[in-house]
Amino acid sequence: MKKTTNRPALIPKMYCNLFGHDYQVSKRVTYHVKEYTCSHCKKELTTDSNGNLIELTPKFREINSILERIYNSRTERLKRKSIASSIC
Ligand SMILES: [Zn+2]
Repeated sequence: MKKTTNRPALIPKMYCNLFGHDYQVSKRVTYHVKEYTCSHCKKELTTDSNGNLIELTPKFREINSILERIYNSRTERLKRKSIASSIC
C-alpha cells in the first residue's frame, strides 16, 4: 500500500478544471480493463465492465486486483496449454 503523503497541489487541480484531465495508463489490469492516472492532479480512473471510465474507488481497486489475479493465472494457463491441454 502506498501512502498519500503529498496531496495534489491546488494549481494542477485548477489546470484540470480549465483544460481537462490528462489521463495516462498507470496499470493494465486485463486486456480490457486499465487504470488511469491524471498526470496533473493524480486523479485515478478505471474501466468498468461496460467499458466506461469511472473513478477508481477503493472498491474498484479491490475488484481490479482480483481481476488482475484471475487474468494473470489465465494467461499463465494459456502459456502452459501447449504442454498439457484440456485439464479444466
Ligand atoms: Zn487532473
